[in-house]
Amino acid sequence: KKITIAIDGFSSTGKSTIAKLIAKKYNYIYVDTGAMYRAVSLFAKQHNFVGNDFLDKEKLISNLNDISLSFKFNEDLGFAEMFLNDKNVEQEIRTLEVSQLVSKVATISEVRRKLVAEQQQMGAKGGIVMDGRDIGTVVFPNAELKLFMTASADKRATRRYKELLDKGDKVTFEEILFNVEERDRIDSTREDSPLIKADDAIEFNNSDMGIDEQFERICTLVDR
Ligand code: C5P
Repeated sequence: KKITIAIDGFSSTGKSTIAKLIAKKYNYIYVDTGAMYRAVSLFAKQHNFVGNDFLDKEKLISNLNDISLSFKFNEDLGFAEMFLNDKNVEQEIRTLEVSQLVSKVATISEVRRKLVAEQQQMGAKGGIVMDGRDIGTVVFPNAELKLFMTASADKRATRRYKELLDKGDKVTFEEILFNVEERDRIDSTREDSPLIKADDAIEFNNSDMGIDEQFERICTLVDR
């Protein structure tokens, strides 16, 4: 039977790495919900609803119907890339600039309502691995398997820093550490669907656990 797997946790805890591996092994669909919030943030930037330390929530809300999000599977990459109004934005949504805006955008209830509805539709048939912040609590409260990933802020910032450096982005470790901690703070304290561990989620602290060991343990849970 194809089940629903919900993976939640703080920023850069390796959720997507694990989710992709599981999706591949079980031939499930993988959905990165963070990419959807990032794409909405990119849209807000493109339409100048954002300035220095300023986000025009009302304008964004009134333009939500003009945002069309879709995922298209890329055979070479082995996962689905994010498309915003039919344009591939997979690279653009990963910049520090977008990371600095996204948690603010994710506090807007109207944005959450739109994205949650789309996510529930994608997972309606099961056979899905979805990662985010509210998957086990809000999107799929009845998911058969819920995982909650944690790791020290330092480990997480190091991971994200390496990723951005590899892409050639000019960022400092301090900026990344600040952003990771700031997003965690906003995500866990927002009013609508704050990031919390679902009661029935299994916690994985991967500060010291390698990816292979985690993957093996999670497969045992899927197979049970
Ligand atoms: O997973 P990722 O780090 O790309 O997510 C970016 C941001 O999107 C998070 O920091 C959070 O503010 C928001 N998010 C959310 N709910 C989700 C997924 C992401 O609020 N399900």
